[in-house]
Amino acid sequence: MVVEPKASTVLVVDDEKLFLDFLTAIVDQEHSVLKATNGEEALDIARKSNPDLILLDIRMPGMDGYDVLRALKSDPITTDIPVIFVTASSSADDEVNGLAVGAVDYITKPLVPIVVTARVNAHLEIKNQRDFLRKLATLDGLTGIPNRRAFDDALAMEWRRSQRNKTSLSLAMIDIDHFKPFNDSYGHLEGDDCLKRFSDSLRKCLHRPGDLFARYGGEEFVCLMPDTDIKGAKDVAEKMRKAVEWLDIPHDTSPGSDVLTASFGLATTIAGSNKDVDNLNDLIARADLALYQAKEQGRNCIVLDGNPPI
Ligand code: GH3
Ligand code: MG
Ligand code: MG
Repeated sequence: MVVEPKASTVLVVDDEKLFLDFLTAIVDQEHSVLKATNGEEALDIARKSNPDLILLDIRMPGMDGYDVLRALKSDPITTDIPVIFVTASSSADDEVNGLAVGAVDYITKPLVPIVVTARVNAHLEIKNQRDFLRKLATLDGLTGIPNRRAFDDALAMEWRRSQRNKTSLSLAMIDIDHFKPFNDSYGHLEGDDCLKRFSDSLRKCLHRPGDLFARYGGEEFVCLMPDTDIKGAKDVAEKMRKAVEWLDIPHDTSPGSDVLTASFGLATTIAGSNKDVDNLNDLIARADLALYQAKEQGRNCIVLDGNPPI
């Protein structure tokens, strides 16, 4: 599994132009720099640009560094961005207060370039390792696509978004047909390889940034389609069903087809608008029931919640 290395972006915040330029000159030798000259601007840039690290002056008119840090910590979008305080003060109280509010480090002016560079790089390294581990924790080890945990988080988020914006949320539960006999006749390693090719192919059927294709467990997969009504979801599912056939993976022991196929169960709702789909577990249950019906009705087909097979 390859996680692409990412160029780091550092937000530098100081109301004094001299210091801002000096810090920028130090940091931009190795990283991209974003600049802000007051607290409000810093918050705005942090939310929009999601920097990897913030160098934050404590003494500023209006919102001071403590206020900015508290605001960053209270917003889920910015709460994880590490912040290093930079200040002329060398009082122990400032340092203790800064760390208590959630700064990861503290640099005092006058600035020594080599010290700034070393601290910035040390904290970026920690941040990058943390991001890498977080990413790994959300990916399935075999196929490299998002895992059940990532799906659960995305569904919870999209459920709230659907409720807020009154937009359709569609879910497909997907299960490979007769995969047990596939493993039995071709072996488990071949089965694993098949799961990789299967997920690679279905992943490519999705194009919208909010769509999520994840491994639900074993040979079951899910496809979450925000802002997608039932017609759109049917189109995606049909594209996926065909993509599986086109993989043309031989399956001699399948009772129904000589190549590998999959069955699809679809459910759609606008969260909060349908008493039969009261919560996100109901949406999963309905897609699951539709999948069960697709299996009953011959497999290699799509069943829409409450409707005949497509
Ligand atoms: P159906 O069409 O009703 O879905 O039949 P099925 O045989 O696909 O369903 P069943 O649930 O009986 O079997 C699922 C099989 O998937 C059994 C299990 O060994 C296999 N499987 C699940 N996870 C993996 C995996 O990670 N690698 C491999 N090779 N096989 C797996
Ligand atoms: Mg199966
Ligand atoms: Mg299964």
